[in-house]
Amino acid sequence: MDLSTIIFGILALAFVGLIVQAIRQMATPIEMDDEDGESALEQARDEVPEHDEEDEAREPEEEQEPEEEQEPEEQEPDEEPEKEQEPPAKREKKPADRKEEAARLRKGLAKTRGGFIARLGSLFKGKREIDAELLDQVEEVLFTADIGVRTSQELIDGLRKELDKKKLGNPAAIWDTIRGHSAEMLSQPGYGALKIPKGVKPFVVLVIGVNGTGKTTTIGKLAARLKDEGHSVLLAAADTFRAAAVEQLAIWAERAGVEIVKPAKEGADPSSVIVDALKRANASGVDVVLADTAGRLHTKANLMEELQKVRRSISKWVEGAPHETLLVLDATMGQNAIAQATMFKEAMDINGLILTKLDGTAKGGVVLGICNELKIPVRFIGIGEKAEDLREFAPEAFIQALYESADA
Ligand code: GDP
Ligand code: MG
Repeated sequence: MDLSTIIFGILALAFVGLIVQAIRQMATPIEMDDEDGESALEQARDEVPEHDEEDEAREPEEEQEPEEEQEPEEQEPDEEPEKEQEPPAKREKKPADRKEEAARLRKGLAKTRGGFIARLGSLFKGKREIDAELLDQVEEVLFTADIGVRTSQELIDGLRKELDKKKLGNPAAIWDTIRGHSAEMLSQPGYGALKIPKGVKPFVVLVIGVNGTGKTTTIGKLAARLKDEGHSVLLAAADTFRAAAVEQLAIWAERAGVEIVKPAKEGADPSSVIVDALKRANASGVDVVLADTAGRLHTKANLMEELQKVRRSISKWVEGAPHETLLVLDATMGQNAIAQATMFKEAMDINGLILTKLDGTAKGGVVLGICNELKIPVRFIGIGEKAEDLREFAPEAFIQALYESADA
């Protein structure tokens, strides 16, 4: 080995070290999931479930006449004895916990990382200079990524602007620019955890979204989280169209050790179930009511009308409620999720988004498109089916977990 080879080796190592250092503020071990990611991309392309009006696969529906808006008295809420509550344990997070959480997030996002991020990353491998070919390739990857045309265009425009200002000297700077713009898009005001203000009681959260996106599961996870934070929680099983949906929520309620109000019969008026829950919450001083809803009716218009009616009933019973209307979107839907969000936003005031199933898709980049187009903050993401798989959304940590293995 001659001297120049050694010097070149040292310089190369130092260069790589500097880039990695700058990009990873909180250094944590990296797991490479290339294999996983690649296959996930293929898989996700092959088997994207469709969630549209025509899709009847998930739940056949019976003809049902929507009942009149009413203020019911007749329903007997489930009398579940107040369970022995563990002391409200607000866990202080230790650095080790945080490290583990970061590692779990990275793992949960492995498939998404295998999508356009990996493709972008591979473009930069071994590149020392920015040339027209590299830019064309970046553009191609972004436009074929599941982030929506508008968002891809904005990222590329941003890149070209920086290049025109001669700000970008090397491929690593391009990478940084894309990351920076992505972080800006994700940082919609109000992102992150649900904040339950003192003095607002009950705090009412209405959860909406198309069937199968993960509403019921997310409510279960959220109930466990809020209970863990020391709040008393009551669930309203207002997806009254299927007994199975009510049972599913009841299982989560039991798991989380929280109470639930169920409809008296299948097909009962959803608003009446929620009103029952609100009355019960008022009577027993419950902190938070989480209301589940149906995700499909005969038509889109029916669904939106029903949700608006539910909303009106809630506001009639609790002033200023619902305090949060959260839209649940399934990341495996890719750009369909953007279309769904647009549709719901037209009918309802949405405060926050929950993006589920990021663990199961290479299309998680869609969150960029959703935030950027709808300007609604993401509150939580789902990276698995267990209670602990609901994560507070933090743009920086998300970006870091997304881009990390591609950086390395
Ligand atoms: P709903 O119809 O909107 O209430 O959807 P469900 O809560 O019933 O969820 C539909 C399916 O998605 C269930 O099998 C859930 O376990 C699953 N699911 C929900 N969230 C996640 C997630 O974050 N990751 C994974 N892998 N599966 C999820
Ligand atoms: Mg459900």
